[in-house]
Amino acid sequence: MAEFKRPSGRGMTEIRKMSAKVGVIPNADGSAMFSFGDTIAIAAVYGPRLLHPQHMQDPSTAILRVNYDLLSFSVYERKKPGPSRRSQEISKVTEWALLPVLDLKEFPNTVIDVQVYILQADAGTRTAGINAASLALAHAGIPMKNLVTSISVGKQDKNIVVDLDKDEEDYEEGEGATDFPIAKVANSDEYTLLQLDGKIEPSEVKKALTIADEACEKVYEVQKRALKEVVEQ
Ligand code: UDP
Repeated sequence: MAEFKRPSGRGMTEIRKMSAKVGVIPNADGSAMFSFGDTIAIAAVYGPRLLHPQHMQDPSTAILRVNYDLLSFSVYERKKPGPSRRSQEISKVTEWALLPVLDLKEFPNTVIDVQVYILQADAGTRTAGINAASLALAHAGIPMKNLVTSISVGKQDKNIVVDLDKDEEDYEEGEGATDFPIAKVANSDEYTLLQLDGKIEPSEVKKALTIADEACEKVYEVQKRALKEVVEQ
């Protein structure tokens, strides 16, 4: 059997070129950009600020409110503007991915708004968005026990690969493609997001997570470097 080659020419565990920058939106309380290749996400944090309407306030904690939006011209086929089931789902899973590292008890009755915008999309937008949002929250000075790092692993036919781009997500040969986005608390075994679009054998999950863990360490390095740059300035 011929050896499998990724359409992108990347190695099986090779992540696209990553880049991160903190402090990209001066008027936000915290902000960051994170990219995997042609997928570019920006995140802006506003708050903590008093939550209105008042009946939604929680006297024991701040509320985290994430809004993910894939902009109309971020994709080849223009996307209808405005919220969709997909954007609602990704906003919610992004919230759940971030909440376990945050200590929001210090800010009763308030809301922390996190706006995640995808400026350019080539798959992996939820993972890039989580990485950007995690950096933006740190930049805003919200108490966090660690950063959240995120990446997608997946399969093309029988092969486990990391950080699928759109061509790879659309792979149709053999068993087709599987997308398995994960997020975890950096330097820990605590997963905060596990989603699955496609199929994976239970016996392959461990290998996929090991590859994801190694990739997350590289994501974390890029995140730390970006935070360090802004602290040094
Ligand atoms: N996409 C698109 N139009 C849409 C939604 C998605 O072209 O309305 C593309 C975009 O490149 C996105 C990819 O499909 O990154 C995969 O989307 P998915 O829902 O799997 O989430 P993602 O991988 O971006 O987290």
